[in-house]
Amino acid sequence: MENVIILGTGISGLTAAIYTARANLSPLVISGSEDGGQLTLTTEVENFPGFPEGIMGPKLVQECKKQAERFGARFKIDLATKFTAGSKSHILELESGETIQTKTLIVSTGASARWLGIPSEQKYKGRGVSTCATCDGALYKNKEVIVIGGGDSAMEESQFLSKFARKVTVVHRKDSFRASKIMQDRFFKNEKCSVVWNSEVAEIVGDKFVKGVKLKNTITGKITELKCDGVFLAIGHVPNTAIFKGILNMNENGYLLTDRFMKTNIAGVFAAGDVQDIRYRQAITAAGTGCQAAMEVEKYLAEKEN
Ligand code: NDP
Repeated sequence: MENVIILGTGISGLTAAIYTARANLSPLVISGSEDGGQLTLTTEVENFPGFPEGIMGPKLVQECKKQAERFGARFKIDLATKFTAGSKSHILELESGETIQTKTLIVSTGASARWLGIPSEQKYKGRGVSTCATCDGALYKNKEVIVIGGGDSAMEESQFLSKFARKVTVVHRKDSFRASKIMQDRFFKNEKCSVVWNSEVAEIVGDKFVKGVKLKNTITGKITELKCDGVFLAIGHVPNTAIFKGILNMNENGYLLTDRFMKTNIAGVFAAGDVQDIRYRQAITAAGTGCQAAMEVEKYLAEKEN
């Protein structure tokens, strides 16, 4: 029986691993399908405190992993496929066929950016296609970029990108945004920003890097080309909570609901990071909630033993 299993090796899971390992709980950390989490998809992280020159996202994750290993965290490359909650312990079934019982669980499975599902976006991922303006925006100084989506994220990313880019064009599949009015007002006031309505990106084109997109009008079906140096997807995130459906409380979009002690509705099951955060979604806040969840696990186990 494990003391604590941590699901996910993003920065929240790794911070939870550092804290639970230092508390001598010998945590078992299961990687999941996106080992290292969203930070591994970014380039330089400039806003993580303690790195005045910035740090590459993958390096930050590697360093956290080393730090957790130093204190006795164990890592396993596998994917949890089934969760069964019990009153005293919980059971996880893994893709490898293994079944593990644990006294506590920290769910830090994160949220994955939603992709369009067209082959060319994978071809140009990291070569002009990004899901994170905050991470990659500074690379587009004086360039032309497009942002896909019509929600608050698309508005926010456009505003952010306009600090660097010469021109920001939002491509939206409908003729109105679903974003909040205040965010839309800011967008329409920004001289660098404009919108192409009723359009979907059918293909991303380029050579080694992105050079433009082929747009398909959703009403007429007509294909047009739009030149750009970068394509930012802002079509939402999908929290990785499928195995907890019907067991852990979640909101209508599948994000886990926790109280301020990172507790879910099941005793001994905690959640941290983007899987429960629809508001901040920052590396530092994910690390912070990972720390909180770990400290709550420690407290929970100590209280159970007494
Ligand atoms: P949303 O789900 O709100 O919006 C996603 C957008 O992407 C929609 O306009 C949707 O189109 C479009 N879209 C989805 N799938 C596709 C697709 N396959 N192809 C093309 N377009 C697609 O996600 P957000 O990330 O914008 O926001 C998530 C939540 O976070 C919201 O509650 C939002 O309010 C909040 N948020 C708040 C912020 C703030 O207040 N500062 C900042 C960012 C987010 P359609 O409209 O046609 O469905």
